Amino acid sequence: MTAKIIDGKVIAQKVREEVAEEVKKMVEAGKPRPGLATVLVGDRVDSATYVRSKQKACAELGIESYGHHLPADASQQEVEDLVKRLSDDPKVNGILVQLPLPSHLNEERVLQTIALEKDVDGFHPINIGRLAQKGREPLFVPCTPYGCIYLLEQAGVQIEGANAVVLGRSNIVGMPAALLLIGKNATTTVCHSRTRDLPDVVRQADILIAAIGKAEMVRGSWIKPGAAVIDVGINSKEDPTAPKGYRLVGDVNFEEAKEVAGWITPVPGGVGPMTIAMLMKNTLRAAQIQNP
Ligand code: NDP
Repeated sequence: MTAKIIDGKVIAQKVREEVAEEVKKMVEAGKPRPGLATVLVGDRVDSATYVRSKQKACAELGIESYGHHLPADASQQEVEDLVKRLSDDPKVNGILVQLPLPSHLNEERVLQTIALEKDVDGFHPINIGRLAQKGREPLFVPCTPYGCIYLLEQAGVQIEGANAVVLGRSNIVGMPAALLLIGKNATTTVCHSRTRDLPDVVRQADILIAAIGKAEMVRGSWIKPGAAVIDVGINSKEDPTAPKGYRLVGDVNFEEAKEVAGWITPVPGGVGPMTIAMLMKNTLRAAQIQNP
């Protein structure tokens, strides 16, 4: 079997176009232009790159972005004060605090300071708590897991009743992805670094979401024939033939898995582009909630 490739670039582009269209309609109707505030603390090069990509996406879709950059030694009080100010600012519909924060800061307390209706990353403890409870709906769903489920739905994969296996239990990917799958009535198993017989667990999966950050660890022989494989991992692998001397690979051995799976996302070009697209969708939703 050769798997159908789920093209995240095409699906993300469609989401972005839909958001841009809705933003245009809002502005034409005389409503304020949606606005996203980004909070970057410190000088991590990867974080600065992510924030720039998010601001660029805003500009392309007609969303205002308000960039805030605090030094690496900013105090807890300074960060919380900034987030509180943004929570009170009517021009700001969504607040994105780029994680991870420097280690001296209490991330949970900062996230708790974000106004619930502006929590476009979906990491406020109340939004996560609602995601975990039956019959309750979070206002926003974390962007990468939201993107994973969106890809499955767009590909036409049956989630209800499926056996789903999630590799990884991080707060930003694995755990919310598992909660979303449970909410959509999949029978869901969450694996982590202490899981025994990982290949055997993965072989039960009709749907596999891999988010462990281990280059090509999941082998083709682990995949159930016909399964849907969503590869969240972004890892660099040495490759002397590549211009930079390395290339990006996922947590799944793509070449092997595509011969067995029914559907698979590539890396790059699978889940990656979805994260920012879903952030834009969440920011639009925040603006619609705040300016009905
Ligand atoms: P974390 O490092 O926070 O979490 C990794 C998880 O994988 C942990 O739960 C860990 O278990 C588990 N794990 C690690 N090694 C193994 C193993 N050998 N067997 C089974 N489980 C294991 O990573 P993130 O969730 O932040 O990210 C995961 C991957 O997704 C990374 O490659 C990251 O770059 C990528 N990513 C991609 C995004 C995108 O937009 N496409 C966005 C965010 C992340 P334990 O809990 O026991 O330690």
